[in-house]
Amino acid sequence: TLDADWAERWIRRTADAVADRRDELTELDREIGDGDHGENLVRGFRAVVAKLDARRAEVDGSGAGGPEAPPRLVGDVLKLTATTLMSTVGGASGPLYGTAFLRAAKVTGHETIDTRGIVAMLESALDGITARGKAEPGEKTMVDAWTPAVEAAERAAGEGDEADALRAAAAAADAGSTATIPLVATKGRASYLGERSAGHEDPGARSTALLLAAAVDALG
Ligand code: ADP
Ligand code: MG
Ligand code: MG
Repeated sequence: TLDADWAERWIRRTADAVADRRDELTELDREIGDGDHGENLVRGFRAVVAKLDARRAEVDGSGAGGPEAPPRLVGDVLKLTATTLMSTVGGASGPLYGTAFLRAAKVTGHETIDTRGIVAMLESALDGITARGKAEPGEKTMVDAWTPAVEAAERAAGEGDEADALRAAAAAADAGSTATIPLVATKGRASYLGERSAGHEDPGARSTALLLAAAVDALG
């Protein structure tokens, strides 16, 4: 099972990953958008890490951590991530990732989550993104990474554990992102380019692949 420490490692590793790959995300968004996707995510996840650090300092300072420490829920970490992304990331990706994490938090209000919990978390995240952005698969958005990721996690969960489900999701998101290259965008800024959006990878699909790879790295 996975706990709040895993969720916190996931978010911290995502912050590192988007910082490391900032230029690549920026370049992808420069090609078919306004060139701010890297900057948007670096700013957002940096703000989340600052809140996680502040929360840790508070717990340490209050002498908690003993038998009376309140349980830390997976969903607490995801909810903090959601609200912080919503308030610090402008543009399309802030509300989209924010809603994804908010929905994910709603189904992970537990101290630990098992394989089914991981699948439910990913399904809820995708539901949030589609509720907010109304994109369907094939429109060259982050939905094209999330949709195969959820399907792969569902399949892997039949025979495997939560690590298998996350690994399958991350691999499928990576392939799904690459598969956005030939697509013509019909949602978001890239849709303004029409046919000229073909031949470029969608930045939000690529950042989704980084996010899910970080979830795997956080397994330890
Ligand atoms: P902005 O386009 O406002 O500058 P970002 O550059 O941060 O915001 O994010 C762009 C990404 O957001 C796109 O690459 C795409 O994956 C995603 N996106 C945009 N519109 C939608 C939508 N309606 N549904 C799903 N994802 C979307
Ligand atoms: Mg942009
Ligand atoms: Mg923008």
